[in-house]
Amino acid sequence: MTRAQRRALEAICDTFAPGAVDLGVPDQVLELARLNPSVAERELGALLSLFALRRFARLPRARREAVLLAWCESKYATKRAAFQALRKGALLAFYSHAENQRRIGYPGALGPPANGRAARIQPTPAGDMHCDVCVVGSGAGGGVAAAVLAQSGLDVVVLEAGPAVSEADFVGDELDAYRRFYWGAAAGTTDDGGIGLLTGECLGGTTTLNWTTSFPTPDAVRDEWSGPFVSDEFTHSLDVVAERSGVCTDYNEPSTRDAIMRRGLEALGWHVDAMPRNVRGCDQNGVCGYCGFGCQLGAKQSTLVTWLEDAHAAGARIIVETSAERVVARGGRANGVDAVTRTGKTITVRSQAVIVACGALQTPALLLRSGLANRNIGRHLHLHPVTGVSALFDEDVRPWTGTIQALYSDEHANLDDGYGLKYETGPIHPGVLIGFASWRGADDCAELLGNLPRSSGIGLLARDRGEGEVRLGRGGRLSVRYRLADDDARRIRVGIEGAARILEAAGAKRVYSSHARKLSYEPGAGRREQFLAAVDREGFGAGRCAFFSFHHMGSARVGADPEQSACRWNGETWDLPGLYVMDGSSFPSASGVNPMLTIEAIAHLNASHLAAELR
Ligand SMILES: Cc1cc2nc3c(=O)[nH]c(=O)nc-3n(C[C@H](O)[C@H](O)[C@H](O)COP(=O)(O)OP(=O)(O)OC[C@H]3O[C@@H](n4cnc5c(N)ncnc54)[C@H](O)[C@@H]3O)c2cc1C
Repeated sequence: MTRAQRRALEAICDTFAPGAVDLGVPDQVLELARLNPSVAERELGALLSLFALRRFARLPRARREAVLLAWCESKYATKRAAFQALRKGALLAFYSHAENQRRIGYPGALGPPANGRAARIQPTPAGDMHCDVCVVGSGAGGGVAAAVLAQSGLDVVVLEAGPAVSEADFVGDELDAYRRFYWGAAAGTTDDGGIGLLTGECLGGTTTLNWTTSFPTPDAVRDEWSGPFVSDEFTHSLDVVAERSGVCTDYNEPSTRDAIMRRGLEALGWHVDAMPRNVRGCDQNGVCGYCGFGCQLGAKQSTLVTWLEDAHAAGARIIVETSAERVVARGGRANGVDAVTRTGKTITVRSQAVIVACGALQTPALLLRSGLANRNIGRHLHLHPVTGVSALFDEDVRPWTGTIQALYSDEHANLDDGYGLKYETGPIHPGVLIGFASWRGADDCAELLGNLPRSSGIGLLARDRGEGEVRLGRGGRLSVRYRLADDDARRIRVGIEGAARILEAAGAKRVYSSHARKLSYEPGAGRREQFLAAVDREGFGAGRCAFFSFHHMGSARVGADPEQSACRWNGETWDLPGLYVMDGSSFPSASGVNPMLTIEAIAHLNASHLAAELR
């Protein structure tokens, strides 16, 4: 980095958050950019050179703010994406410092757990080896498949790109968790920067970090998907995974966020119900709000503490910090996996069958790297786009506390032939607020963050009919293309109005959408209508309204026909016998509900069939 580039970076950070340079924020931003899979190093360099050329660092603060806001509102999506990436990086780093957290009334990290249990899974050192089945990925799909196969007496090797983790690692530090346990430090996005892509990269995959919501596949979706999804066998698999994962409604004391949502829903006479959750011994009011950074109590029944332990106990070898590069074939059949460790050592695992369960972003990438050619690989990607409506209350909400998700509403779940949205709340830590909030200048941002303890919000999770695509870009880099379909945008607009009405009915003092231009209103006659008119004017273009995706589905979907699907109903790829997909990629379309349990059931069913076949 040249001195001019460095000065530009410092000035940018200082403009977003005065005082950032003294805290070392520019170096933190550089580290986050290095980890961010959606930003190439040379792109950041070119961006900083542009700012340096325009002598950005020499401008007075007000002019610097105006320049950044012009990028925020640019007609060019690339400029808006650059603004958002810099904004999120700088503010996330700034509010990771204890003194800034204290200033906004956020207590910060939990610290090490009192009784953090040491790891119960002893990883096997990486090296060349032989086995019956090599399972790539240890999340919802891979964890279950590994257990089913190992318990049936087969020799199983699990390859996991992320590190081994256990309760002792979960210190409840937001930025630290993103850096250590999330793919790309939780900063990955679609190519146009429009949707943040969140997924885990650690033992247990995203189930280690997720929010415990455990819906079975809805009957209507099963009917739509047909094939094995309407069978009694699939019902049995759903029951088995729910039982092993401890799905219940015994730990559903509403957080303040959920109590507010319920208050609003009840005032409107709208649907509200208890969220089924995969927990045993959850403390709800203690550390539960930090669950997305790993559960300190081991209460969350992720694959880490259930299926992977079962697999390990049954003799499966689990190799961590090792990424599968490609599936290798011999005699027209999958015959193993070439992989590379984080330290650069290459290994080969030979096997009779390979199961790919890397999640719906990385699974198609691995299949494409392995030379598979079926045209559906990577296509039909669904993201359940999530945006949020937040609100300021008079009461102390402390939205980072309480049961992570206790209630939901299906009031608008079926707006249009099975398509609609779910209303759910989630814990709001500073980085989460930064992710969804606008930046209209340093003072405005400081005020917004200062309001965190009295803020609450409702997420709207849309079942998307529109589709995106995963591709391999230049240098093998993951490229995710996704544009919100008009049809989906229309339903999201219904959700924004719905969430605003719920928050208003619950007594909100001010309601905000997640638009970059900061759209908000104080409830009063005609004000919501004006707000919604502004929402319509702004629309949902990339970088104009914040969206995140927590659920990735469908990018190597199963089906009856190679013209329409990438895999047979049993998960075997049409292209290469002996190579199976068992994860979120397998979905024929978006599930419309949080997908973990469906993924686990698919893996349970298809791994059971494979075990019978191989035995
Ligand atoms: C913050 C958050 C909260 C969520 N909350 C919920 C919830 O409450 N309920 C719900 O149902 N869903 C939730 N989800 C989604 C759910 O957890 C995922 O849909 C599910 O875990 C996906 O399962 P999977 O098997 O497809 O992939 P994952 O569980 O993501 O597992 C994939 C694994 O493969 C590994 N991997 C990737 N590439 C390679 C490679 N080349 N070599 C080796 N390993 C590789 C990854 O590191 C990862 O560990 C949430 C997601 C997020 C991000």
